[in-house]
Amino acid sequence: MTDHQPDNPLQNADRDLVALGIASAAVIMLIGTGGSVLPQTMQALFGHGSKPDVLLVNALLLNIALIIFGWRHYRELTREIAVRKQAEARAQLLAATDPLTQCLNRRAMLDATEELRARAAVRGDAVAYCMIDLDNFKQINDMHGHSAGDAVLVMLCERIRSLLPREAKLARLGGDEFAFVMSFPAGHTDRVDDLVIRLFEDMAQPFRMPELTVEMAMSIGLTADHDADGTIGEVVDAATLMHCADIALYHAKKQGRNRYFWFETNMENERRFRNQLETGIRQGLARGEFVPFYEQQVDLETGALVGFEMLARWRSPQLGLISPEIFVPIAEEIGLISELSERLMEQAFADASEWEDSLTLSINISPVQLRDPWFAQRLLKKLVAAGFPPRRLEIEITESCLHEDIGLVRSMIMSLRNQGVQISLDDFGTGYSSFEQLRNLPFDRIKIDRSFVSELKEPGNRSRIVEAIISLGRGLDLPLTAEGVEDEDILNALKSMGRLKAQGYFDGHPEDADSVRTRLREAGKLNGAQAPAALAGQQGNGDDSPTLHRIARP
Ligand code: C2E
Ligand code: CA
Ligand code: CA
Repeated sequence: MTDHQPDNPLQNADRDLVALGIASAAVIMLIGTGGSVLPQTMQALFGHGSKPDVLLVNALLLNIALIIFGWRHYRELTREIAVRKQAEARAQLLAATDPLTQCLNRRAMLDATEELRARAAVRGDAVAYCMIDLDNFKQINDMHGHSAGDAVLVMLCERIRSLLPREAKLARLGGDEFAFVMSFPAGHTDRVDDLVIRLFEDMAQPFRMPELTVEMAMSIGLTADHDADGTIGEVVDAATLMHCADIALYHAKKQGRNRYFWFETNMENERRFRNQLETGIRQGLARGEFVPFYEQQVDLETGALVGFEMLARWRSPQLGLISPEIFVPIAEEIGLISELSERLMEQAFADASEWEDSLTLSINISPVQLRDPWFAQRLLKKLVAAGFPPRRLEIEITESCLHEDIGLVRSMIMSLRNQGVQISLDDFGTGYSSFEQLRNLPFDRIKIDRSFVSELKEPGNRSRIVEAIISLGRGLDLPLTAEGVEDEDILNALKSMGRLKAQGYFDGHPEDADSVRTRLREAGKLNGAQAPAALAGQQGNGDDSPTLHRIARP
């Protein structure tokens, strides 16, 4: 950095060598004048000769003074230059390395990669760039503190270094992101595979510290400047290598972490698509493209419509109607899920306010939202603002929320329940909630995941899991909702199992607010609306076939 500064003090010091030049000139002049003036002066001093020329004597004395001055100045200068050069070397080292691990930093890694490539090219070798990301480092930091986290990073770097070839360079690119470059004989990517596999084996060993032992998992993305067959690839520079390894790393993380992938071109397309989705979500949120859809929930025994589950949809002008299974995980990752969900809630509270008072509204809450200690307060505030009674609201949280800070989840559930909001445990059976958690957390309802309910389609219409969940619900005195009721067979099988709520495509696919409003109006189930005579008549007949009370579909 200092090299580019116009007023580099070292350069100034170098320029001051002029002083040494002056002193040298003085020496030459001393020799020139001194040769005649000195003997004359000496002779005059001893009374043997004529007086020397005063001007020449003065010049001689001036020369001597200049030489002393020049020499001292030069000595000081060389000392200062040495000190400054040392300082600069130290500054350069600090600027190029991570102080904790002594690894290179991101900027220095680019230069180091280029240098290694140049050296490898002379030998005809290839260079591999490896990007490493720790999968659970944040947890270690959060649970054991930053000093434990730092100690783990230092040990980790030692382990990596011990496996790397001598010429390889290791860098710390960010908090828990590392990279190394190494050369290998072109066409032998297996050498890199071997090293990476050894790295995974090594990493599987716990990190032992005096007070604690931690386990670490990592994901790795790899790329090389030569193709697998040894031909020179299209890679043009270190930055491209870094970019490709990053994409491969991203892919490895998406595939479930703790694994490694070599870069492939199609990964880049995936990443591009993903970036498009991210941009689309950001813009879509600002443009109000996210809308609530609603799925009917019915009482299986009476067939009565009891409420709706709100399911988010993205009406993207470019991509069409997009499922939450696509955009919710991305919104969670890019930190937009709370904003997205809260906008949808506001819309849903407004929609549901028009529905008959007995109809409930269920909304899905992401585990990310539950990490926010103010979530319950904000939700209750929104209910008040919308004038929507809390007793009509049901919050659905998935089992994965129970892996979060359980104390926080518990207090959030308690404050919502105190206001009358119901809490259900969604997708039950797909996660790992323990019986203990079910007993200790005050849920109001369990939702049986549709993957189990669909087993009722099989011949015999039995599912041991569904039966087990139903008896568990009974044992805990918790009402149940069965999801994914797709046909009459499933419906009848469930009916024989006791009193349940049910929802699924048998009652129709989720619909937007306008369609729901139209149906409810026809059924007389809008606030203040009159029930059509036909429907009222049928109800009066006491016929409880499900089609009577459900909102009829075309
Ligand atoms: P979920 O809560 O389990 O929602 C039920 C999903 O099953 C919905 O998919 C629904 O359309 C679908 N489904 C309903 N009946 C049937 C059926 O009979 N057969 C089959 N095969 N599928 C049926 P969707 O709308 O794509 O939602 C997927 C998931 O996205 C939801 O699963 C929920 O976990 C999440 N989600 C939806 N909206 C939101 C939201 O606003 N916020 C959050 N955080 N998550 C949401
Ligand atoms: Ca749900
Ligand atoms: Ca579900």
